[in-house]
Amino acid sequence: MTVRVATLGFPRIGPRRELKHALESYWAGKSSLADLRTAAAGLRASAWARQKALGADILPSNDFSLYDHVLDTSALIGAVPRRYDWDGETVDPDLYFAMARGSQADAGHAGCAHAAADTTAMEMTKWFDTNYHFLVPELTAGQTFRIASTKIFDEFAEAKALGYPTRPVLLGPVSYLMLAKGKAVEPLALLPQLLDTYAEILGRLAGAGAEWVQIDEPCLVLDLTDEQRTAFERAYARLATSGPKLMLTTYFGGLDDNLDLAAALPVHGLHLDLVRAPGQLEPALKKLPEHVLLSLGVIDGRNVWRANLPDLYWRLRDLAGQRDLILAPSCSLLHVPVDLALETALDPEIAQWLSFAAQKIEELAALAKALNEGEDASFAAFSASRIAAVARQTSPKIHDPAVAARLAALDEGAARRASPFAARRDVQQARLSLPAYPTTTIGSFPQTAEVRKARAAHLKGEIDDTAYAQYLRVETRAAIQWQEEIGLDVLVHGEFERNDMVQYFGEQLAGFAFTRAGWVQSYGSRCVRPPILYGDVSRPAPMTVEWWRYAQEQTERPMKGMLTGPVTILNWSFVRDDQPRETSCRQIALAIRDEVQDLEAAGAAIIQIDEAALREGLPLRRGEWQHYLDWAVESFRIAASGVRDDTQIHTHMCYSEFNDIIRAIGAMDADVISIETARSQMELLGAFATYAYPNEVGPGVYDIHSPRIPAVSEMADLLTLAGKHVPAQQIWVNPDCGLKTRKWDEVRPALIAMVAAAQEMRAKV
Ligand code: GLN
Ligand code: ZN
Repeated sequence: MTVRVATLGFPRIGPRRELKHALESYWAGKSSLADLRTAAAGLRASAWARQKALGADILPSNDFSLYDHVLDTSALIGAVPRRYDWDGETVDPDLYFAMARGSQADAGHAGCAHAAADTTAMEMTKWFDTNYHFLVPELTAGQTFRIASTKIFDEFAEAKALGYPTRPVLLGPVSYLMLAKGKAVEPLALLPQLLDTYAEILGRLAGAGAEWVQIDEPCLVLDLTDEQRTAFERAYARLATSGPKLMLTTYFGGLDDNLDLAAALPVHGLHLDLVRAPGQLEPALKKLPEHVLLSLGVIDGRNVWRANLPDLYWRLRDLAGQRDLILAPSCSLLHVPVDLALETALDPEIAQWLSFAAQKIEELAALAKALNEGEDASFAAFSASRIAAVARQTSPKIHDPAVAARLAALDEGAARRASPFAARRDVQQARLSLPAYPTTTIGSFPQTAEVRKARAAHLKGEIDDTAYAQYLRVETRAAIQWQEEIGLDVLVHGEFERNDMVQYFGEQLAGFAFTRAGWVQSYGSRCVRPPILYGDVSRPAPMTVEWWRYAQEQTERPMKGMLTGPVTILNWSFVRDDQPRETSCRQIALAIRDEVQDLEAAGAAIIQIDEAALREGLPLRRGEWQHYLDWAVESFRIAASGVRDDTQIHTHMCYSEFNDIIRAIGAMDADVISIETARSQMELLGAFATYAYPNEVGPGVYDIHSPRIPAVSEMADLLTLAGKHVPAQQIWVNPDCGLKTRKWDEVRPALIAMVAAAQEMRAKV
């Protein structure tokens, strides 16, 4: 019996974001397509070499992408939306990037032949419960498919020429269709046509020498309808005989009630995520036929923690004696940073607990070696792993008894405001005396090149703390004066001092660490560096009070205190795996509560707690939603409820789907919630109407994602529409989200128009 190591996908961006730089230079017209291709080939070659050297036996190909692997799949099967005016032959790079990014005059690459001047990009959405965004396939009635890109064949051949036999990665047909959006067609109805093309692709791969193909069907871990189950059966009955052996790959959860379905599919191998769903191994072993090769995702592909190798060894030893196994990360390593070795500034004690993509392959190799040759064969790796695990379990850096005690002592009242909303509204109105349709913004003002330059200079030590603070004060004061001038009612300080709405707080809280090069792809060339939440969270000192005080001193009007909420901080970080997420969330909530109370004590009458990422934390399975929503809402309430009745709590959420979580939104009991609505013609306020949402709502009337400046009448019309759902007395007037990505030239006229729209509405009250 042998144990081998596979990777399901390696980060594409390169250890130093080489892909980002190559792409952006190409898009800016500063380098050629040939340059981009050379850079990409170099990244692929070094990824293969690296994985091989680290001990992977089975290497993936086609896991690389110039933008997104779902878009690659659309290109592969020729699913190009009509608006791109495609000739139906091959998807070339200009078309590919037009689909990814749209082709406005300023965003397109010179010589973009395909798309006319103003073709919008394909819609982007989150890949399952990750922070990676994919381009949503758009399918229409009468859709046909054909092989329209040779990427998967080319990259297989490229690896082969370098001496690496690879296992190409292909997004499975059912997941592809389930992720797609159909126009006048139910995507799954297109399965028969799609299977013809998939069969052809697989046949060609076999012809090129691919023995196995990794076919990803992450949708197998979701709740499935009968129709979707049937689609899986049809698909694999057809594809099983198309050529290469299929490693059916599932991740981000357990098969659970889909196990029977998956186990009966005529595939040669099955990959299980044993990090998210360790319990599924036992039942899977009972169900799976002997001849199915098992691939076990035992190393966390979604998080940065080092594994406990001796533990894993004992879990797997008996099984490894009974059947051939593949060991793999739970999912593609796309979701973790590339290499811990680049982190020279991390606290060495914390670094010892971590493992990034490269280290995860080493861990798998050590584990496989021990399972093949006996525990002693990996003696050094195992002892280091065990030492790190013990150190982490017992480190005082992680465990703060004061935090634990405070959480344990938390009573129910801590998550409840003193009085119900109706009573709070009256005292808040008496304190604030705001007009009808009060106007405000969501928090940030343009992060101009100048602001970012000053921050970078400060970071590099080129300007000192005093000079930097002085610069920020000038910016802040100007923004405040301008808001007063144009007549906004509730002001913000502009967030010029913040690098990012999570990082800014993480850097000031105990329990968070930050990397230098821990980049993870978010979409296309965009990468993020999520904070690492490693220990009990507390707030050593006030984080925003000084800035708030300065800002309030500049004006008589109410200045909002501006905070990021606990659920959002949690969801945008790598979090602890040694305690439940909800425990970490409550700890963050307590720290934010402290800040809220300090802002109140300093005199803030309005405090906004942003929960931009609350919705995206929803579990993949419906059955787990309620539990998540319960603790998420409770965490928000812990953060928000330590204030007097006359302190107004706002929250903000930037997404446009509330129907299924409206009860939770209601339960948050924020005095005012601002939401994204401009693009949906206020439709989503319907959820608020149905629920009879009693608190105040600021439906965004200005789409900040576009440089377009909305007209007064347009915003007044939106407010009139809003009034059909929610009584006028409950309505606030604000943009969809923060303005940090916009230019001042866009923000100025848009906000002046927004204030005018509010005045128009007031005149009618
Ligand atoms: N206060 C933040 C801002 O205005 C909110 C950002 C967000 O919701 N994504 O930038
Ligand atoms: Zn927002």
